[in-house]
Amino acid sequence: MTVLCEMCGKEVDRTSRTRIEGSVLLVCAECARFGVVLEPPPTAAVVAGGGPRRPPPSLGPLRGATRRSTERDVFLEMGELELAPDWGRRIRIAREGRQWTPDDLARKLNEKRSLVLKLESGNFHPTDALVRKLEHHLGIRLRADAEKPS
Ligand SMILES: [Zn+2]
Repeated sequence: MTVLCEMCGKEVDRTSRTRIEGSVLLVCAECARFGVVLEPPPTAAVVAGGGPRRPPPSLGPLRGATRRSTERDVFLEMGELELAPDWGRRIRIAREGRQWTPDDLARKLNEKRSLVLKLESGNFHPTDALVRKLEHHLGIRLRADAEKPS
């Protein structure tokens, strides 16, 4: 029984799980040299200090499970600023007050329309930088501490 190398397509007896440029592929020995071979997860019985690269017990057809496109983590970090509880609504009201479509606002923010919609529905917590941009473009305050108790 042979398997196909996911990189060059050659039929080989065995492939190695290899990380190549961010993707994990099952490749032949030739192609494995272009990446980092991932060892199969050690079993509980294995003690540290085992030999290098032992043949994997049986590599089933694990296809593509580890392959995942990662979007750029531009907004990975959460904002530090404390936002008003209704910040999503404030954004939408201010935008509509200016008669901007979500696309208009997205363009000004240099963001995607979907992000604007998520912001307005409160499903996306903006970063500090984005809060400042929103405040700047919409002329509003989104932070909780900007409100004075009346
Ligand atoms: Zn190959």
